[in-house]
Amino acid sequence: MAERIRRFVLDERRLEFPFVGWTLVALIGGMVSRWAAPGIEGVFWTAAYLFGGFYGVLDGALALHMGRLDVNLLMILSALGAAFIGHAEEGGTLLFLFSLSNALQTLALERTRQAIRRLLNLRPPVAHRIREGGEETIPIEAIEVGDRLLVRPGERIPADGVVVAGFSAADESLLTGESMPVPKGPGDPVFEGTLNSYGALEVQVTHTASDTMLARIIHLVEEAQAQRARTQQAIDRFEQRYAWAVLAGAALTLVLSGLWGEAFDQAFYRAMTLLVVASPCALVISTPAAFLSAIAAGARRGLLFKGGMVLERLAQVRLVAMDKTGTLTENRVAVQSVRALEGNHPDVILALAAAVEVRSEHPIARAIVEEARTRGLSFPEIREVEARPGLGVIGFTNAHRIWVGSPRLFQQEGISLPVELRAMLEEAQQAGRTALLVYDGQWRGLIEVADRVRPEATEAVQALRRLGIEAVMLTGDHPTVARAVAQVVGIRRFEGGLLPEEKLARIRSLAQSIGPVAMVGDGMNDAPALAAASVGIAMGKMGSDAAIETADVVLLQEDLRRVPEAIALARAAMRTVWQNLAFASGVIVLLVALTFGLGIPLPLAVVGHEGSTLLVVLNGLRLLRWGWGSAGGKGGETRT
Ligand code: ADP
Ligand code: MG
Repeated sequence: MAERIRRFVLDERRLEFPFVGWTLVALIGGMVSRWAAPGIEGVFWTAAYLFGGFYGVLDGALALHMGRLDVNLLMILSALGAAFIGHAEEGGTLLFLFSLSNALQTLALERTRQAIRRLLNLRPPVAHRIREGGEETIPIEAIEVGDRLLVRPGERIPADGVVVAGFSAADESLLTGESMPVPKGPGDPVFEGTLNSYGALEVQVTHTASDTMLARIIHLVEEAQAQRARTQQAIDRFEQRYAWAVLAGAALTLVLSGLWGEAFDQAFYRAMTLLVVASPCALVISTPAAFLSAIAAGARRGLLFKGGMVLERLAQVRLVAMDKTGTLTENRVAVQSVRALEGNHPDVILALAAAVEVRSEHPIARAIVEEARTRGLSFPEIREVEARPGLGVIGFTNAHRIWVGSPRLFQQEGISLPVELRAMLEEAQQAGRTALLVYDGQWRGLIEVADRVRPEATEAVQALRRLGIEAVMLTGDHPTVARAVAQVVGIRRFEGGLLPEEKLARIRSLAQSIGPVAMVGDGMNDAPALAAASVGIAMGKMGSDAAIETADVVLLQEDLRRVPEAIALARAAMRTVWQNLAFASGVIVLLVALTFGLGIPLPLAVVGHEGSTLLVVLNGLRLLRWGWGSAGGKGGETRT
């Protein structure tokens, strides 16, 4: 019960606007009665103070309880001071405008929170579980991994899973920002919260309700909102000292004016005005207003920022490093050909390789397994596998060992290549194809794979260049292959043959020589590099856990154009922050000067003060509608 009241009053603030209204009514009542029935005037002023000051006192007391002096208290003090010298109507006006401004701020920031709540609403409450002889309806919390669910046309998919039967298309736009429906058939992954369109699907659950993509996104965005950016932390610390300084300044004004021989009332009035105009309301709200809006605008278009801190760092990035396989190129690698050494059959080589690669998550591994399956080959599933990130894999069976990987793997293992194979290898590399060698005690041959460059990669690199950011490719693949891809994409700097730890070292040295580096990776074996970079950006192939955990920014859509877009949004957010800070401090300086120079009346001071606070919030809100050029990301950035 107490908790319910607390939420109603403090968290939800449903009384905020009604109280503002009552304050206004009381103010008008006070003014009317001053002239009609002076006897009861005080009742109205008291009411105005109670309604107008309610939330201010509450928040100020909470802050004080935590040892902080905040703007609420300065305002309340000023209003009380005004009443003390017989200017109750001005104090009432102050409280009215102050509470109105606060209520409007709550409302404005609420709009950004709604963007997240909309995600929450995507969670369907129940699911239909298929059981022997029928189906049962269960709450989504009761869904277990391995359950089979029936999703009818038009229903939201209640869990992350794989389609086992049926054909349909899913609208995943609310998760990824991509509006095209994605076709779904047996074997395809589906995600909680996405909308099933025309067909019924039977889905096998792969993740529990708390572990789905949607659940993780919601969690991430909530965390991001709670995390305070460094700019904001600095301002919070500053607010403390500043608030004390304002208080001291007001006291000093009072004393000095007294010494000067000014009347007490007049000096006191000026001190109260100073309390209002010098209060840092607008300064304090400058940063969160911009960052919350930017985070919400990002979430809406499939860009997840893990907090304002990330926006700050991203805005400073000078260089973007990109992984090749799975990032600059499509995740779908395809086997081009299998070349057998004398006395071997290509299918045997493929089956041998597939047996080891089943256990690997690498795009190359998936290509090999897929090819073996389409050729109808049967192969044992080898359970004991050692992955060598950036090199290949080694499988162990009772009988023998199998190596599949790059030439460098064999170099490391001290296994030398026969002349015949060496020739094949060079040929493949010249053609810009990645070659995986297969060896199991004797040499078998090689598998050539090729990955297609993402169609939007060139455009993304150009967009980065327009932002003044150079792209660098860091890949574990052979330098010749690296060169081929770099040329297609228009990347001038590239380095091939890098092991994961070498990528990491490269990122560090680039950061030292050029400046903050962002790393874009598909997150499988790029996690160390993502973590080392100033900002890690994961191509959030939906469902890849490592990516989401390590990265600072997650792109829900596999679209490289989102990288320059994210940077542009971060820069826009920082620009807004600086605009706000400059404007807010300018207004304070101006109003303080006016207070001393002209002795402006308190109500006017309040209007100027609260007006600037609201302008700062509105300026932040503009980011909610931030847009990046046309759909193709052409041209510079435009803001609406
Ligand atoms: P990139 O940096 O382009 O993403 P990786 O670092 O993931 O490339 O891999 C570098 C090289 O290591 C690949 O080109 C391939 O030769 C080899 N490799 C990595 N993983 C595997 C695997 N599972 N099977 C075979 N070869 C692999
Ligand atoms: Mg990769």
